[in-house]
Amino acid sequence: MRSFTYEKAATPAQAARAAREPGAKFIAGGTNLLDLMKLEVETPQHLVDVNGLGLDKIESTPEGGLRIGTLVRNTDLAADARVRRDYAVLSRAIVAGASGQIRNMATTGGNLLQRTRCHYFYDTNQPCNKRVPGSGCSAIEGFSRQHAVVGVSKACIAVHPSDMAVAMRALDATVETVKPDGSSRTIPIAQFHRLPGTTPHVESDLAAGELITAVTLPKPIGGTHIYHKVRDRSSYAFALVSVAAIVQRDGTGRVALGGVAHKPWRVEAAESEMPNGAKAVTKRLLAEAKPTKENAFKVQLAECTLDSVLTQAKG
Ligand SMILES: Cc1cc2nc3c(=O)[nH]c(=O)nc-3n(C[C@H](O)[C@H](O)[C@H](O)COP(=O)(O)OP(=O)(O)OC[C@H]3O[C@@H](n4cnc5c(N)ncnc54)[C@H](O)[C@@H]3O)c2cc1C
Ligand code: SF4
Repeated sequence: MRSFTYEKAATPAQAARAAREPGAKFIAGGTNLLDLMKLEVETPQHLVDVNGLGLDKIESTPEGGLRIGTLVRNTDLAADARVRRDYAVLSRAIVAGASGQIRNMATTGGNLLQRTRCHYFYDTNQPCNKRVPGSGCSAIEGFSRQHAVVGVSKACIAVHPSDMAVAMRALDATVETVKPDGSSRTIPIAQFHRLPGTTPHVESDLAAGELITAVTLPKPIGGTHIYHKVRDRSSYAFALVSVAAIVQRDGTGRVALGGVAHKPWRVEAAESEMPNGAKAVTKRLLAEAKPTKENAFKVQLAECTLDSVLTQAKG
């Protein structure tokens, strides 16, 4: 691990100002960033600790939704009675991820910004455009079983590993931020994560130093909430494919996929096919899929997983 300096921020705006400097990074639970620093995949020169900012509350909004502070731990968010009752897809997605110990530390904002689990990204001896822009992508001609099938580019085929983010996409969450100049803004989750394009190292819509302060969920929409994650072993593994679904009694609803793209994958137009079944939905959801030989199975797996989810929703 390389040496670095450290400061504990007193206010969100101060944190954002400090993190604007080149080489600076926020640290929250540290469950992803510290691993990457130990491997020298990330080498920040300055860490801005946001843990003392008091952004750790879950509050009801005047619109009937919930505002989740960025420092709310994954365990606390999944266990919150309002989340379990009205946004069960989110509780289920969170507990499908990591381990109890990691979820106790992991924060809402940190979870959204966790980096990909592409093994070439972690191996500093291998070319990787996300780690070293312009160095090449080892996965495209290499081992790509875990990688993306849709929204890919010639520069990167990595997937976003978060389970929580897939549920938030289905719930139409909004990300609240503070910028270094003290101004704040909100970003719909659909626009928060980016596709790789030619700049796979740019993963979100955040500007330099921009701090996530909260994630807001709109008023609950009812329905049956299901999160189904398919992985190589039954716990402590990232998704090959996951489905976050909210299904209404008449068969309409929403669906987002994890494990298939550089961001949680939702195509609203495909949801009109939900009453017609998984095949019809997947055909539109993954219409632009460009899998490799090794991960072509994910297209069929997505359809089968969604089929199982829709069957379960019928009860
Ligand atoms: C062994 C293991 C297994 C795991 N399995 C799963 C799994 O199955 N599913 C899953 O979804 N996740 C899994 N995870 C990932 C885990 O969920 C993340 O590591 C965790 O959510 C990151 O949150 P954190 O607060 O620790 O982030 P940190 O490590 O502190 O930060 C992560 C990134 O977010 C940035 N950041 C943090 N807070 C803010 C903020 N407020 N504003 C702007 N930037 C910010 C940091 O600068 C950093 O770049 C696993 C992790 C491990 C170690
Ligand atoms: S898929 Fe992306 S993260 Fe993986 S090696 Fe290629 S550029 Fe790097």
